Amino acid sequence: MNYYELRAEFLDVNSQPEIERQSLKDEQVRRLLRESFEKSDYYRKLIINNNIDIEEIRSCEDLYKLPIISSEVFSTSMSEVSMNYDNIVRYCHTSGSTGAPKRVPYTRKDIELAIISQARSYLLAGVEPFEKCLCAMTYGPWPSGMICHAASEIFGLTIPADSFLGIDHQLQSLQKDKLNYMVCLPSLLPRLERYCLEKNISPASLSVRKIFVVGELFSETFRSHYEGVFNAKLINMYANTEFGLIASECQYHNLHVWEDFFHVEVIDPDTGKLCEDGVTGELVITALKREALPLIRYNTHDLAEMYKEPCECGQTGAYLGPIRGRRDNMFTINGGNIYPIVLENIVTAIPGLSSFYHCIIDKIDGHDQLSFKIEAKDNVDDQEKEYLAGEFYRELTSFDLTLRMIFLGLESASRLNIDILQPGIISQKSGKIKKIIDRR
Ligand SMILES: [Zn+2]
Repeated sequence: MNYYELRAEFLDVNSQPEIERQSLKDEQVRRLLRESFEKSDYYRKLIINNNIDIEEIRSCEDLYKLPIISSEVFSTSMSEVSMNYDNIVRYCHTSGSTGAPKRVPYTRKDIELAIISQARSYLLAGVEPFEKCLCAMTYGPWPSGMICHAASEIFGLTIPADSFLGIDHQLQSLQKDKLNYMVCLPSLLPRLERYCLEKNISPASLSVRKIFVVGELFSETFRSHYEGVFNAKLINMYANTEFGLIASECQYHNLHVWEDFFHVEVIDPDTGKLCEDGVTGELVITALKREALPLIRYNTHDLAEMYKEPCECGQTGAYLGPIRGRRDNMFTINGGNIYPIVLENIVTAIPGLSSFYHCIIDKIDGHDQLSFKIEAKDNVDDQEKEYLAGEFYRELTSFDLTLRMIFLGLESASRLNIDILQPGIISQKSGKIKKIIDRR
């Protein structure tokens, strides 16, 4: 598919009346169920064992009659789950950052759809033909590098700069080819900023004006800081290895879902019922057009809200609010729940701290213990470390009443440690950083 075909198709999908969009989705649901029942041993068993008549599932609204599945599907033999087995041309792996790695099969059409999904993000953000891209995602067994790369080649020159190659390689590519936009993990930005400053290069002097980020949570403080540092717009994307890119941000920071590819439900984790618009719940997703791996009502455990009202940007269909982290990354300590995005907001609210940290939870003598190891932005002496640790503690205990009770309780029982680290100790590792480490 070339740029003009991609754009025409995107405009076409976006101009569909709601009733037509819904009718096409319902048709895809019926086709997907018929095909999964015929070709996937896993789904046939699931449907029979739950006494479900698939003829009664006629639309997206009827999907609730099927059970929600989760990552356990990946521990089942792939030959049992997959369909169109003979047409599989690629396997990719998840990073396993929140559990055992998962293997995802693709047919050629699945790859094509994943590329279109990704390329639509660039279109929505206004990337134009002949704009040049630095693709700094990983090109290993994960799908992101290959898919992002192929999508940006629809527009123009794309330089592969695997995140494991190192910052020097990425900076040289940005400078040499005067690249206009880049796609990377958010954690690349502080590393690139520091490296530029060490080399006496102003990050804003680079020609990059759009930075597409995916794969890690970040706060609004982080966004505004790095938009200023690089004189560029940050565009957030919502993707995972199981589905590829699901939604992408417009200028109003709403994550628009590609509804012709995905049906997204927001589910109350306690009741399993659909949440009202604007209420946070777990994202349960059905891939409507997937050929190799039928994922129907798959619980991503990512938390967000969904809205169906029109967005000011003019894009039609549903959109998500900010992703608040994975529910299985949420942890309970001293009787309160802590969401990863809250820690992200607190750490980045303190000017002297970087966004690189570990939050380690242990159980010692039957009691929970919490240790934060947070990198300072610049080199710090003992006095500055103490000051930053104090600022962090103040922020933890003033964020809201729940956090105040949790952290005051931990501190008074000497079960809270805050260590401020010199720059580089965490951030020098490339790739995704596991920030929440629950060792209980
Ligand atoms: Zn919008």
